[in-house]
Amino acid sequence: MLEVVKVIKKYGKTLANDEVSLTADAGKITVMMGPNGAGKSTLIKAIAGLIRFEGEILIGGHANKSLPAKRLLGYIPEMPAVYDLLTVTEHLQFIRKAYRLPVDDAYQARETELLERFEMTENKNKLGRELSKGMQQKVSIMCALACDPKLIIFDEPMVGLDPHAIKELKQMFAQLKQSGAAVFISTHMIESVEGIWDDAHILMKGKVAASISSRDQADLESLFFAITEGTKGGGGK
Ligand code: ADP
Ligand code: MG
Repeated sequence: MLEVVKVIKKYGKTLANDEVSLTADAGKITVMMGPNGAGKSTLIKAIAGLIRFEGEILIGGHANKSLPAKRLLGYIPEMPAVYDLLTVTEHLQFIRKAYRLPVDDAYQARETELLERFEMTENKNKLGRELSKGMQQKVSIMCALACDPKLIIFDEPMVGLDPHAIKELKQMFAQLKQSGAAVFISTHMIESVEGIWDDAHILMKGKVAASISSRDQADLESLFFAITEGTKGGGGK
């Protein structure tokens, strides 16, 4: 569902992405792990079409900046950005309309289900500016899901959430995977994806240091430390 081919992104002299190639498949949870500054958010912004880059990114076989690609993508940024003066349900309907998708009975049923799943039914008429950080993140996730994406990208989704919300989020990842979507999660915290990942790409200093599948190597943690602490591959400094 997602194909990243030799993506290069420079910020001045900083090489944030250095020929990054990776994939994420439908019906799987793919994680991109790496320490702070490894280039994860940069790659995600490139995938979401928010920055210029060299290389190629395909979503469902379409160039990432094309309309068919954008229709397939749900993106939950690191920092949720909500509109101060829209209510929770207005956010969802606004995004549907921006995607030229109907706000019909089928959608209303979906909206009700999303509000219930995220325990936001009671807050559905609150304005963006009245929402806590955790609620803003829920709105951000619900907006992404309201357009039935086939590729859902989360940038550091667990940061700032309480343990209850993290547990819910993990269940949601599993449900999305079950529904056949490609789930792509960026994180620097291994424990947040423990037990749920199918494929993993470890990013270090802008490069993919390793790509593994949980079928072949279930112990992500020791591989991660072996790579990031320089006892394997890369060679350290
Ligand atoms: P990660 O998400 O893995 O923590 P980022 O992709 O945010 O990493 O950053 C990768 C590198 O690019 C870092 O060295 C960071 O300082 C740099 N960088 C990120 N965004 C910008 C920007 N807008 N301008 C300049 N440098 C940036
Ligand atoms: Mg980041």
